[in-house]
Amino acid sequence: MASATEFEDHSKQEIKYTTCYMCACRCGIKVTVEDNKVRFIQGNRNHPINQGVLCAKGSAGIMKQYSPGKLRNPLRRKPGTERGAGEFEEISWDEAIDSLTQRLAHIRATDPNKLAFFTGRDQMQALTGLWAQQFGTLNWSAHGGFCSVNMATAGLYMLGHAFWEFGDPDWERTKYFMLWGVAEDHSSNPLKIGLEKLKRHGGKFVGINPARTGYQAIADEWVPIKPGTDGLLALSMVHVLLQNEQFDWDFLLRYTNAPFLVVNTPGKKGDGLILRDAEGHPMIWDLKKEAFANGMEAGSTGALFGAYSAPDGRPVRTVMSVLTERYLDDQFSPKNASKITGISAETIERLALEMAHVAFKESIEIEVEWTDWAGRKHDKFIGRPVSMHAMRGISAHSNGMQSARAIHLLQVLLGTIDCPGGFRSKAPYPKPVPPPNKPAQHSAPNTPLKSLPLGFPTAPEDLVIDENGQPKRIDKAYSWEAPIANHGLMHMVITNAVNKDPYAIDTLIFFMANMSWNSTMNTANVQEMLKSKDDDGEYKIPFLVVVDAFHSEMVNFGDLILPDTTYLERYDAISLLDRPISEPDAICDSIRHPILQPDRNVRPWQEVMVDIAGRLKFPAFTKEDGEPRFTSYKDFIINYERAPGIGFLAGWRGADGNSHLRGEPNPNQWDRYIENQGFFKYPLPESMAFYRFANKDYLELAQRVGFNPTADPIVIELYSETFQRFRLAGQGLYDGPQPKDPVDRERLATYFDPLPDFYEPLEQQRIDKKEYPFYAVNQRPMMMYHSWDSQNAWLRQIIAQNYLYMNRQRGLQMGIEDKSWVWVESHNGKIRVQVKLIEGCQADTVWTWNAIGKQSGAWGLKPEAAEATRGFLMNHLISELLPAKQGERRLTNSDPITGQAAWYDLMVKIYPAAPGEEGTWPVFPTIKPLPGDTPTPDVLRYHTHRPVNLKS
Ligand code: SF4
Repeated sequence: MASATEFEDHSKQEIKYTTCYMCACRCGIKVTVEDNKVRFIQGNRNHPINQGVLCAKGSAGIMKQYSPGKLRNPLRRKPGTERGAGEFEEISWDEAIDSLTQRLAHIRATDPNKLAFFTGRDQMQALTGLWAQQFGTLNWSAHGGFCSVNMATAGLYMLGHAFWEFGDPDWERTKYFMLWGVAEDHSSNPLKIGLEKLKRHGGKFVGINPARTGYQAIADEWVPIKPGTDGLLALSMVHVLLQNEQFDWDFLLRYTNAPFLVVNTPGKKGDGLILRDAEGHPMIWDLKKEAFANGMEAGSTGALFGAYSAPDGRPVRTVMSVLTERYLDDQFSPKNASKITGISAETIERLALEMAHVAFKESIEIEVEWTDWAGRKHDKFIGRPVSMHAMRGISAHSNGMQSARAIHLLQVLLGTIDCPGGFRSKAPYPKPVPPPNKPAQHSAPNTPLKSLPLGFPTAPEDLVIDENGQPKRIDKAYSWEAPIANHGLMHMVITNAVNKDPYAIDTLIFFMANMSWNSTMNTANVQEMLKSKDDDGEYKIPFLVVVDAFHSEMVNFGDLILPDTTYLERYDAISLLDRPISEPDAICDSIRHPILQPDRNVRPWQEVMVDIAGRLKFPAFTKEDGEPRFTSYKDFIINYERAPGIGFLAGWRGADGNSHLRGEPNPNQWDRYIENQGFFKYPLPESMAFYRFANKDYLELAQRVGFNPTADPIVIELYSETFQRFRLAGQGLYDGPQPKDPVDRERLATYFDPLPDFYEPLEQQRIDKKEYPFYAVNQRPMMMYHSWDSQNAWLRQIIAQNYLYMNRQRGLQMGIEDKSWVWVESHNGKIRVQVKLIEGCQADTVWTWNAIGKQSGAWGLKPEAAEATRGFLMNHLISELLPAKQGERRLTNSDPITGQAAWYDLMVKIYPAAPGEEGTWPVFPTIKPLPGDTPTPDVLRYHTHRPVNLKS
């Protein structure tokens, strides 16, 4: 038999395992390397996240290495040239780091808040947060404030876990799955794997989204909702459940604050707070004892409904009574919700009752013995097989926090939280509601902050404001304007810094954040702000450091450019201290390690941070003799301990490598991860698989390994006392800090509803909807992640131009033809774009793919690339500030609770372009090539195999 044709010389190849970083899912990959080049990338079948699945982006990681847009050397803006002119000169790493360290040392010794350090989708917030804390600046956050902080915060202030990294549907068992506002790329491979499982076992998939793309394409039912009205849809379903008495009575009594008593004294101090005993325990009405009792006492039989007179005479009602009264109101009836959401009353009612049917009539039982928090043994877990997932389509509205809470409320009423078939938590979640760490409030020269800059406020006392109530952070997070801004407000940093509001800064470091283009609102204006100067000729932001691996639009505005590596060229820890990759059944983390040597003069930013931390003698990075404690990031990962035995990696700890989750540092830990294909998986026993908020064994494990400070049960908060404290501050009824500005008072009183609420998005409240009748949203495609892949030759073949997608019938009624050019205008600006008419679009909505449009000359693309001439950004239309209102200072265009950027509140008008008006508009100047750049090739080839001579 003839031997098989040899396409590859395998003797030259090596297989290496690492973690993908073409998006934030962090799949395991198997990489074939030959001659310091990637030959193939495959999914790692053993990896818990993707189980071998690889998406288009993942395999196209090969072309990231070939990108002509890679930065090659540290760069400095040429002396005497203007910022934004694109004139750079190469400098050495020594010069770059020496000069930056010198500048930072001065800031740290004088006023550390003059450094603002903001990072994009970096996945290393445990390090960057620690670095900022040790530096002593309050001005740090990652990208969450303009991504999905509403989603994270809603979950952590109600359940102790949240969507995506914090929880997952129980894909094996769920029978009814509802997907809310999820773009195609989000939770990419895990969601695809899950949907396949759901479909195979015959579960129903309902997609709630104004656009029928991506996952929605395989939904059994598509619900084309009007953007920004999801909260009302969820609360109307709550109305239906309550009206039909379809809720999990036992679950509410055992695991939530539904039986807790709420003080009912409107207009008086203390109104709306939970009734507490002398020790501070929440009180319930015990039906057996017919007396008030400690709600945290095991075995009490609390009343779910009822109104009582407290021992001190104040009237009180159970949370459930307050809640029921509220949502049975006619404003939440399907008939009324239908007028606002665009979903028929029949559909709203049917969906709610379908879910109730599955939850209560098709419940499942898993016969496993487990012990609850009070030590009571149970012989089974009861499952309500309804689950949900939601993301940015819900989150990126100024009512997104309350909408996300409304979706969770629906799940809680159905009893689907962390049960078989329901919405399960993933370690290190659940955490106490809310997690116990508070944001740092004070900074001082040459002194680390007492805690990390970001945390979870529970009362006005936790705000980061000065004695006059003014914000202490440059982004105004944790101020009256955004009290629970748990991920900061990155989208406000440039505007506030330029306006010196609340103060001027000296140095702004952006890492992996394209803040002059697709990651900013109001792009053209922000580019002008970055170049703006004071009367003395000094830039309003005096020094701008840009750290990136690629020639993004932001690089053009840097004064100092530090070139980063790609994900295949460096060490990384995907840590439980950061954004975890655990699965519901296993505690997991993973690594990256250099499988290629960089072919240019670049350094991983993590290495640079550890280096600078040592030079600046941050206490956590310095030995007692004053020498740097860590020689490298690799060394830091192994040897840094946040608390004794707790480090960045949880696997193979202890001197002999046999301790997991907690143990002293292991010098061979990297080797053990590499031997195990780059990940660590600690399967949880079946007895810890569910109800982890009240599961004794799990809670004790979580305490032992440092996930939670205590093993106390985690109470699900349908009613948020934290929110009520802020509302009381707005009403002038709080014993503690209160805002002075009537605007702040009114916002707190209106939006900090302790129960999930619905209100019209803030920008829409101020826009003439007759003039701007269309909702305008954007989402990311499955094959591009943010702007990262615009330089990727393979992925550009799939998409290199975005269109404005519009409902076909609506477009034709307006005389707009498929593929014609139209003007799209908002209160903030206008753009010219090409239209595509489609059936799968809600009639009052237009949408597009984000971050496909590029500034000419950026990302190593040819100046005339389709991305620059035909692609476009919707960002030009969106303002970072709400439309002005008389008698009010300019407010951020964000959620008034969390500061989440309200990208999707945009309203626009659309009209055909005049004949001859073609091509994208506005047009920006072409960005100049960088020193050492080679011309972009016409074709970028990847040689896949040796030629085969079929004739021989
Ligand atoms: S979903 Fe695709 S791009 Fe994202 S980590 Fe997984 S393989 Fe990589």
